[in-house]
Amino acid sequence: MSALPVLVLGGGIGGLAAALALARKGCRVRLFEQGTEFKEVGAGIQLGPNVYRMFELLGLTQEIERWAAHPENLIMMDALTGEEVTRLPVSGEAFRQRFHGYPYGVIHRGDLYQVLLEACRAEQGITLHDKAKGERFEAQGERVLLHLAGGERAEGVCLIGCDGLWSRVRAQILGDGRPRVSGHIAYRAVLARAEVPEDLWQNNVVLWAGPKTHLVHYPLRRGELYNLVAVFHSDRYEEGWDVYGDPEELRRKFEHERPEVKRLLEKINVWKMWVLCDREPARRWSQGCVTLLGDAAHPTLQYLAQGANMAIEDAVVLAAYAELTGFDWEEAFRHYEDARYKRTARVQIMSRYYGDAYHAAGVVRELRNDILAPVPGAAPDFEGVAWLYDGIALPRANT
Ligand SMILES: Cc1cc2nc3c(=O)[nH]c(=O)nc-3n(C[C@H](O)[C@H](O)[C@H](O)COP(=O)(O)OP(=O)(O)OC[C@H]3O[C@@H](n4cnc5c(N)ncnc54)[C@H](O)[C@@H]3O)c2cc1C
Repeated sequence: MSALPVLVLGGGIGGLAAALALARKGCRVRLFEQGTEFKEVGAGIQLGPNVYRMFELLGLTQEIERWAAHPENLIMMDALTGEEVTRLPVSGEAFRQRFHGYPYGVIHRGDLYQVLLEACRAEQGITLHDKAKGERFEAQGERVLLHLAGGERAEGVCLIGCDGLWSRVRAQILGDGRPRVSGHIAYRAVLARAEVPEDLWQNNVVLWAGPKTHLVHYPLRRGELYNLVAVFHSDRYEEGWDVYGDPEELRRKFEHERPEVKRLLEKINVWKMWVLCDREPARRWSQGCVTLLGDAAHPTLQYLAQGANMAIEDAVVLAAYAELTGFDWEEAFRHYEDARYKRTARVQIMSRYYGDAYHAAGVVRELRNDILAPVPGAAPDFEGVAWLYDGIALPRANT
């Protein structure tokens, strides 16, 4: 293995997972984060059984389970009529058995981030640098130079761009312009359990689907908190994840919806806002010994709740190929891309379809409700989500 370190740009969930997965394979890693400290903004993250398998491979399951909550069902409600459209029971034995013994969980972003960060800090091979903004890279044969703001440079054997939706590494490799602005805005907030009216509290991930809107809520941190995400269509556009939202705009967008929805929205005075963007799937996102991971490679709308799950899967697959190819980074990145592009593209594309279904109006809304209506007496059908929750085949020595 080269004496030079692996360079990771971006210290989000994807960057930390990549650093950890590679350190566990014996690599020395330098990770650069532009923020003044290592922290995660935002509220809840849903964890499919597919990512629980990754936690197991990374040795993180016990720590994750200290913080995660386990909802009983994923439920879709019609926000105009209050009728239940469909539900998927995700806490019973049937679900676990179908998905190889792995559960469905929800976790506060900060808690997931902290688990990854602590695991990275415990690894001798990882050096974390904050206030370190990457500007561009220069590939020079079997090494890469990363130029940082302020004039510093870091030299590595390869570079993994985990720098999110607005990735500079992607701009240099693919040059495919700005992300696609979906016209959907997410407002998010967290309530303490005591602030949630008793009749509106439930241990389920509930999605209230309304015309051009939806509201999702679920308990977090073993039930101490209640996570709310309200999404609506809007032309307003500002970049970023941490801008304050306008409660009046929210009230207007949901004014024709069920009282349960409006009562929850009224509980919150301060909302943070996300402008939701994605990109068209790419077939290739590596160039020599430089590659991308997580949102930098395949940014997705959040309607399948899988962006962070995909970033963690990426990290485990990339590390597996690194080891398998004897740390021939160019070859490892080619295999990694081949293994990941279709799965992540499916998440990107299906997320858009799910968004359309959640936000359907008129006859399309009625048809959605008919199509998704449960068959009386039938056992829960998990096959519709099996492509996602079954997870991935990991590379073996003979692939
Ligand atoms: C409303 C909403 C709900 C979601 N819910 C879920 C969910 O339930 N489940 C799920 O799996 N996913 C969910 N996601 C998606 C998930 O948040 C993202 O897919 C995930 O955070 C991507 O991680 P990342 O590390 O690739 O990118 P990011 O989290 O964007 O991290 C990128 C990091 O790189 C740093 N950086 C950027 N540029 C530079 C630079 N030039 N130099 C140095 N550092 C840089 C940034 O500061 C940041 O720390 C949701 C997203 C949204 C918007």
